[in-house]
Amino acid sequence: MALVVQKFGGTSVGDIDRIKNVANKVKKEVEAGNKVAVVVSAMSGVTNQLVKYCNDITEDFDKREYDAVVSTGEQVTSGLLAIALQNIGVKARSYSGWQVGVKTDTAYGKARIEGIDADTLLKSMEDGVVAVVTGFQGISDEGRVTTLGRGGSDTSAVALAAALNADRCDIYTDVDGVYTTDPRIVKKAKKIDRISYEEMLEMASLGSKVLQTRSVEMAMKYGVCVRVLSSFLEDPGMGTIVCEEDEIVEKEIISGITYSRDEAKITLLEVADKPGVSATIFSFLADANINVDMIVQNISEDGKTTDLTFTVPKLELANAVDIIKSHKDVINYRDVMSAANVVKVSIVGVGMRSHVGVASTMFKSLAEKGINIQVISTSEIKVSVLIDDEYTELALRALHTAFGLDKEEE
Ligand code: ADP
Ligand code: ASP
Ligand code: MG
Repeated sequence: MALVVQKFGGTSVGDIDRIKNVANKVKKEVEAGNKVAVVVSAMSGVTNQLVKYCNDITEDFDKREYDAVVSTGEQVTSGLLAIALQNIGVKARSYSGWQVGVKTDTAYGKARIEGIDADTLLKSMEDGVVAVVTGFQGISDEGRVTTLGRGGSDTSAVALAAALNADRCDIYTDVDGVYTTDPRIVKKAKKIDRISYEEMLEMASLGSKVLQTRSVEMAMKYGVCVRVLSSFLEDPGMGTIVCEEDEIVEKEIISGITYSRDEAKITLLEVADKPGVSATIFSFLADANINVDMIVQNISEDGKTTDLTFTVPKLELANAVDIIKSHKDVINYRDVMSAANVVKVSIVGVGMRSHVGVASTMFKSLAEKGINIQVISTSEIKVSVLIDDEYTELALRALHTAFGLDKEEE
């Protein structure tokens, strides 16, 4: 007998037929003799609609009320799935985040889970009742509902699996696993059988939204065995297993390629080339809670001034430019330029640690397609480039081929 957490994403519970399909998958797990807890997302499109309702009143809303609104989608699904399970003879009941003690901090809209009281769930499982828990939400110590950031149900599921010490956390979605790149964009993308926590963490944080970044962080911290599977297949197979690096036998140099359209570029022309200037600029942005990601500083031709380019989240672009303009006298630059039509494309793989020439292969294959690289950043297991977003698909396909990741033609 195993203890299993099953999570079903938005498209997997997109309508009543899909919810009935999910109920059958849960039933199968119960009939196999396992103890089961289920985590559900809102039906697809519902959270977007709830977010829009808030924005249609004002973009400057009270985040506590925003969370009160956007957390409701999951409550509907958990109740519906409990009804669907009962209807096919499986004992089940729904639980909201607060009812199973999902405690978070008070960062409304992007709260972090601080602890889960596993007793209620364990008791439910002991009694042979499937617990259907709302993903994406928790409760702060102010006693108010919080949400965990978009895609947060993945994190709810992994946190529950960690608290319950579950044998497996199965994340059911609309693809049959994690692919070498987004299969919706590159048809030749291949399913990855096993991927390390570290690589999955980079892929998620660099734009592959198949798992929320925090869910991978948490799985890595608590050693939760995560599988990504399709709820659309009668037999989902093994999907992709996210595990420790040493559990993977066959390793590629590059495991995956990601893209993110969430960043925008700012360039300051003719900034003074002297100590402390970058510190001044980036501390103004940090004070406003704006995260700077990629940075490049040109060499100074005259020894006096230089150009500085960096990226910020697209949603913060206007705010960041305003801050820089309002401190023009202190920062001292000639002009500021910004662009939102950029995409960050990244290659990820632990194989980079032991292979040379990975970055040059990347740059060469982009150059061959005439794609200009605007900014570069690297870490031990990734290389990211900022390019014109018009070339997203072209770049992904070229890199996928260059690193030998293309699926064989069937
Ligand atoms: P859910 O609603 O089940 O949480 P998501 O939409 O959040 O599903 O995540 C699944 C989607 O992630 C897929 O439909 C796919 O388009 C996208 N995706 C992006 N990158 C990848 C990747 N490398 N592998 C698999 N899917 C990916
Ligand atoms: N329903 C939430 C969202 O759409 C959480 C999730 O689906 O993971 O972001
Ligand atoms: Mg998701």
